[in-house]
Amino acid sequence: MILPVVKYGHPVLRQRGKRIEAVTPEIRELAANMLETMRASAGVGLAAQQVGQPLLLMVLDTRESERPSTMQVNGAEADIAAHMPMVLLNPLLTEPAGKEVGFEGCLSFPGISADICRAESVTVSAVNIEGEPLKFRCGGLLARVIQHENDHLHGVLFIDRMDSATKVSLGGALKRLQKETQADLPPVRKRGARGLVASRQA
Ligand code: ZN
Repeated sequence: MILPVVKYGHPVLRQRGKRIEAVTPEIRELAANMLETMRASAGVGLAAQQVGQPLLLMVLDTRESERPSTMQVNGAEADIAAHMPMVLLNPLLTEPAGKEVGFEGCLSFPGISADICRAESVTVSAVNIEGEPLKFRCGGLLARVIQHENDHLHGVLFIDRMDSATKVSLGGALKRLQKETQADLPPVRKRGARGLVASRQA
């Protein structure tokens, strides 16, 4: 099932994800729906926050991109395609090395993109959708996508990593998107006022 993608301005994008203790049928279904949603949006990655679930869960698939990736498992070059699509639960990123500026977009920021500086390579420890531990080192696009999605899992957005000049130049578009998103959110219930209205109507 394709899920609605939460846009900038929705408070769930700022929530830290909860650790997933067990791969339940609900988690499997959520991961499958996230993969379907990511593909339908032609994305390379999606975090649970982006479908309204503050959980430590991301999905990704870099196969459609021409941008190069590297992956090593136990020190040996791995066949990246064999590991795609990838579902990562409770990921932990360590040993960041190098710096690289690269172009990024985000499904929660339609029409907005920028150059973002990230580590060139990182080590990833996580659990896969079978509940098995997974550890690998990655570089290039794969490392960039995982760092972008891992930020989402901790309530961090790519605008937080833009240089100030870029953020200023995108200021108007960001404000408009935030306003549009917030206009669609359900109104905060004001118990006193509602109660009063209800009793008057009764
Ligand atoms: Zn994103």
